[in-house]
Amino acid sequence: MFWGGTSAVLIGTFWFGVGLYTLFDKKKWFSAYKIQPNRYAADKQVKKAARLILKHQIFLLLPLLLLSYPLFAKLGMNFSWSEMPELWVIALQVLVFMLIEDFLFYWAHRIFHRPALYKKIHKIHHEFVTPTAIAALYAHPLEFILANSLPVMAGPFLLCALGMPVHIGTLWLWLFVRVLETLDGHSGYDFRFWFPHKLVYGAGARPHDAHHSKFNGNFASFFHHWDRLHSSTLEVKARASRPQPGKPTSAPDKELEALAPSMKRS
Ligand SMILES: [Zn+2]
Ligand SMILES: [Zn+2]
Repeated sequence: MFWGGTSAVLIGTFWFGVGLYTLFDKKKWFSAYKIQPNRYAADKQVKKAARLILKHQIFLLLPLLLLSYPLFAKLGMNFSWSEMPELWVIALQVLVFMLIEDFLFYWAHRIFHRPALYKKIHKIHHEFVTPTAIAALYAHPLEFILANSLPVMAGPFLLCALGMPVHIGTLWLWLFVRVLETLDGHSGYDFRFWFPHKLVYGAGARPHDAHHSKFNGNFASFFHHWDRLHSSTLEVKARASRPQPGKPTSAPDKELEALAPSMKRS
């Protein structure tokens, strides 16, 4: 159950989301919400990413999940559907997972931007200057493990190790949230009406879109506090009002100017 269910949540949510956002790109239904107006990733680039991600999911993710099951079982993960935790416990645990992932991802990501590591590892992910959902997992295998997988599992492992058992349903909900966040962050669309943007203060695609076009800031995933604390925030201008479909609010270059960095290098 653990292996099948966890793989289905991670892989199923990812490809369903990629399919949906690719449809948005192809049909241009939401072009008014594009952060980089009229800019779309090339088909060739998307296909190349799909091939690499499938390899990562088959040869890295599935074996990693196989290895993590005995560890979770040993640490006391709750697999019983008749012993569901209360809603507030689930919500609090997911919030803790988000904070832990955000912290670890910030540092892993920032370290991958060190020149030597960037050139050898993280540059692959940054081939997408105009991100689209599939870019979320397009990465070097080391980055896939150290930045995209371990920080996500660190919270559930830690809580179990500290004697606060995590229910398998909570783990699946958390993984679902994390996949949605990274798809959204790379989608290229700023859907301000999307309710998680209001719940999570750093969420939304603009900060990470700016990271892909400017490279040198906005390293965190969910929140802004680590970027603020370490002066690595790229100023992101939010839309003043809901855009009118079919009418981009500004020309492409002006829009990119709005993403200009104010970061002090540290
Ligand atoms: Zn980066
Ligand atoms: Zn990215």
